[in-house]
Amino acid sequence: MIIDTGMTIAYKCSSCGTYEFFNASLFRLTRKKNYCLTCRCKRSGIAISEKGYLKLSVRMHCIACGNEHVFDIDAKEFINKGIGVFYCPRTGIQLCFVGNDILVRQKIDTLEKELDEMIDTFGYESYFKNTRVMFDSLNRIHDIAEQGNLVCECGCSDIELILLSDRIQLKCSKCPGINVIHAASNEDLKDILKVQQIFLSRLQNTI
Ligand SMILES: [Zn+2]
Ligand SMILES: [Zn+2]
Ligand SMILES: [Zn+2]
Repeated sequence: MIIDTGMTIAYKCSSCGTYEFFNASLFRLTRKKNYCLTCRCKRSGIAISEKGYLKLSVRMHCIACGNEHVFDIDAKEFINKGIGVFYCPRTGIQLCFVGNDILVRQKIDTLEKELDEMIDTFGYESYFKNTRVMFDSLNRIHDIAEQGNLVCECGCSDIELILLSDRIQLKCSKCPGINVIHAASNEDLKDILKVQQIFLSRLQNTI
C-alpha cells in the first residue's frame, strides 16, 4: 500500500500578502522537530514544529492584526481527504490552508480567480497601484458592511464605493457623509484589516 504523506501548506505572507505554498512530506517534517518555511519575498515565513505523531503546530505572523498566531494541526485529518482552513481569531481573515495538494491549490486558485475577475473588470492590472491590496481591502470593507458596521453618521448604511487607483472613497447615499480608505500598500492593508467598523462623516476623515 502506498500512503501519500505529502501535505501542502499555503499561507498568507505577513509581509508581501501573497499566498506562498509549501509541499511538505510529513515523514520528513516529523523527523525534524522544527522547520522554518520562508516566503519567496524572503521577508517573512512560518515556523512549524512537531507536537506528536502527525501533529504539527504552525506559528505565523498575522498580516491582519499584527500579532503572532499558533495553529495546532492534526495532519491525519487533512492528508488525502481534506483541507483545513485557519483564520485570524481577531479579524476572521483566512491565513493558512493545510491539506491535500489539489484541494489547497484549488482553494487558492478560487481566491486568485476573484482577483483576476476584478482585473478583467478594470481592463488592466495597472489601474490600481496594488491590485491585490485593493482586492483584499474591498473584501474587508464588504465583510464590515455585512456585519452592519459600515454606517454614516446620519444613520444610513446605503454606502457607495468609488475605486480610485490608490484608495476607496465611501460616500453616503443620503447625505454628504464621506470616508476614504487608502489601499495602495501592504501598510494600508494592515490598517483596514484591523478596523472593525467604519463610520462616514460630513467632515472628511480617514479611518
Ligand atoms: Zn512574502
Ligand atoms: Zn491575526
Ligand atoms: Zn449620511
